[in-house]
Amino acid sequence: MALIVQKFGGTSVADIERIRNVASKVKKELDLGNKVAVVVSAMAGVTNQLVGYVQELSPLVSMEAWSEYDQVVSSGEQVTSGLLALALQEMGIAARSFCGWQIPLVTDAAHGKARIAHITPDAVHEALDKGMVAVVAGFQGMHHGRITTLGRGGSDTSAVALAAALKADRCDIYTDVEGVYTTDPRIVAGARKLDKITYEEMLELASLGAKVLQTRSVEMAMNHGVVVQVLSSFADYKTDAKWPGTLLVNEEDIVEQKRITGIAYSRDEARITLTEIANIPGMSAALFGPLADANVNVDMIVQNVTEDGKATDITFTVPKGDLDRAQAAVEKARTKLKFKSMHTDRNVAKVSIVGVGMRSHAGIAQTMFKALADKNINILVISTSEIKTSVLIAEEYTELAVRALHAAFELDKA
Ligand code: ADP
Ligand code: ASP
Ligand code: MG
Repeated sequence: MALIVQKFGGTSVADIERIRNVASKVKKELDLGNKVAVVVSAMAGVTNQLVGYVQELSPLVSMEAWSEYDQVVSSGEQVTSGLLALALQEMGIAARSFCGWQIPLVTDAAHGKARIAHITPDAVHEALDKGMVAVVAGFQGMHHGRITTLGRGGSDTSAVALAAALKADRCDIYTDVEGVYTTDPRIVAGARKLDKITYEEMLELASLGAKVLQTRSVEMAMNHGVVVQVLSSFADYKTDAKWPGTLLVNEEDIVEQKRITGIAYSRDEARITLTEIANIPGMSAALFGPLADANVNVDMIVQNVTEDGKATDITFTVPKGDLDRAQAAVEKARTKLKFKSMHTDRNVAKVSIVGVGMRSHAGIAQTMFKALADKNINILVISTSEIKTSVLIAEEYTELAVRALHAAFELDKA
């Protein structure tokens, strides 16, 4: 007998018929003799609608406002947990729902993007030991008696964290595609499902924009050694198929070494350029210090010294939603930085190639740059790390760039 955590995303629980379909997936695991805890997202579109209501009322500047945001947006998951428990009961399966606070799943105080501090899974264990299915509302936790949420896409993290706390044998993340692909299958028709991907590569892809798993869920799986599989809630898998989706593995478990494993993109980027900052020590600190204080996440940075060496231009990127705060922080530091002008651009996107193969293969960045040049796509900023190269480009070329790179690295070929 195994203990399995199953997670179902928004599209998988979009209506009552689909919730019944999910109940039948749960039943399949029970029929194999397993214990099952299920984590559910809000029904498709619900979280967006709730966020919209909140934003109509409030600019969300205070922590008090963010805690009400959590009170509102966490409700979508509560509804689904109850509905799935009912669907199971109607099939003659004992089941009960849990909100985050009822487990309890305790987080830090960062309303809207809280991190999980600890889970005490005694009540869930108790339900499982009684032969019940525990249906847990994803995305939500509590801090000092108030509801918190874990950031968009956070039900993935709820599921992996619960699997770690329960010491589950497996965490199956059911979604609307058959696994993790070489890139977003909604953009490239020839994208290929990967049978396995390393935790490290998945972490990069997720943090660079592939929303199939929330970044923190991958971090959590990596740190706690949780066995995670991504698969489709719409496919009818044969019961003897061992890993029908995509399995997250350690690097040693990958035999075939490709140059590149996957491509990610993010449209959630904005660019700021400051011209003619004095080329003297301390200027970067004077710029990025206030940005950090304003809680702005700076990502890519380039700096060019002018020909006479007296001044520098600095370009950096921030999430689109942080742009206004970033501009305000830069303006405040203006007297110290004495820059000549500030230019901002919201119409940019980041496209990234990821693969552990980059450690051992040369010329990969060059293949990337040439593929983009062949499509006449201008590169605004480049950044690299051991297993990824990212470029910033005009947003309108995002899909073209992803397709060109997918072809250039022959990712459609097995
Ligand atoms: P859920 O509601 O089940 O959590 P999400 O919408 O959050 O589902 O994530 C699944 C989506 O992620 C897919 O529909 C797909 O468009 C997108 N996606 C982006 N990159 C990838 C990738 N490399 N592999 C698979 N899906 C991807
Ligand atoms: N419902 C939440 C969201 O849409 C959490 C999730 O689906 O993972 O972000
Ligand atoms: Mg998701």
